Amino acid sequence: MQQSMSRQDFDRLMVPTYAPATFVPDRAAGSRLWDQAGKEYIDFAGGIAVNALGHAHPALQAALQEQATRLWHTGNGYTNAPILRLAQALTDATFADKAFFCNSGAEANEAALKLARKVAHDRVGMHKSGIVAFSNAFHGRTLFTVSAGGQPAYSKDFAPLPGAISHAPFNDLTAASQLIDDSTCAVIVEPVQGEGGVLPATQAFLQGLRALCDKHQALLIFDEVQTGVGRTGELYAYMHYGVTPDVLTTAKALGGGFPIGAMLTRDDLATALVVGTHGTTYGGNPLAGAVAGKVLELINQPAMLAGVKQRHEWFKEGLQAINQRLGVFSEIRGLGLLIGCVLSPAWAGQAKAFTLAAAEEGVMVLIAGANVVRFAPALNISEQEVAEGLRRFERACENRLEGGAS
Ligand SMILES: *Cc1c(COP(=O)(O)O)cnc(C)c1O
Repeated sequence: MQQSMSRQDFDRLMVPTYAPATFVPDRAAGSRLWDQAGKEYIDFAGGIAVNALGHAHPALQAALQEQATRLWHTGNGYTNAPILRLAQALTDATFADKAFFCNSGAEANEAALKLARKVAHDRVGMHKSGIVAFSNAFHGRTLFTVSAGGQPAYSKDFAPLPGAISHAPFNDLTAASQLIDDSTCAVIVEPVQGEGGVLPATQAFLQGLRALCDKHQALLIFDEVQTGVGRTGELYAYMHYGVTPDVLTTAKALGGGFPIGAMLTRDDLATALVVGTHGTTYGGNPLAGAVAGKVLELINQPAMLAGVKQRHEWFKEGLQAINQRLGVFSEIRGLGLLIGCVLSPAWAGQAKAFTLAAAEEGVMVLIAGANVVRFAPALNISEQEVAEGLRRFERACENRLEGGAS
């Protein structure tokens, strides 16, 4: 018998970097999850935009189990067929010719930023090292990526930080153009800021960044860790915008819940990372390759991607109806199944309280900053689950309203 564990044990045992929900998830299937007490939740959080095919998808279980009986890990002194098949699928489906695999979004961005610095240093000189990023951006929690991120609260405690990184306001091309010059090696941007509030870039902004990068021979890096793998209704958000980056990072949904990240780029840039310049022990392991290969195969289908756009409409209509009755949101925004509800001024700063009320009613939702309630469900969630989850969410909003602004 295994020892039973409770939420209190988290406080006793764990470094307190998180404040998890009071309930402890125990099992899940599709877009439904049950806690230790057997209470059911509809999952609109999707493990933070990760469980793109829901929980315990039979085809992913089969891919994982089949690979688990065959080969788990060899290290980078050897390659393996599952990861090569995944690289083939990703490069066939995107602008990229080459892939580098790692285990998380932060590591994918770390690789992208290191690639940009090395390309610039090799080809131009050490002075070409500037990185331009954006306010409220989120790129991960390593020291380099937290410095590129645009939320000083996440980096200031860890100074001294890597240098030559500057930030412009998001969607402000004029401000960006004042920072991007011949000493810039890369511009890193999320096509839709996820953690920063589910804020889509404008087409003109991304097009303008593309032109500025071309003019100054800087690499345009799209951080698609949250927007990638079908989330926006296209395989990658760059396809939605029609603006092609030089480097793309992808993680979260790529493994459907199994940890994997990837940096994708072109041949002419990939050559800079010669043997020994970068690496990771687990990156490109066969288990992750097998699962992500199946995820990509199932998601990169016209019907699946069209289904994401259809589901966007279900959410948007449902949330608008809730808002018409209750007036809790000032804006409903986002692409595909990455949707943010900006709280109206009376409820400003209380997104967390809405997620707690939602959990009480049996629906899991996310925040994106203090002001935005975020939805990032599985891409295959059923119409009935969307409707039931939104009914629960509506009751949660009513409860908040009755409880009054606190
Ligand atoms: C989640 C996220 C990351 C970090 O990914 P980890 O797997 O947590 O390291 C980076 N960029 C964006 C846009 C993200 O949403």
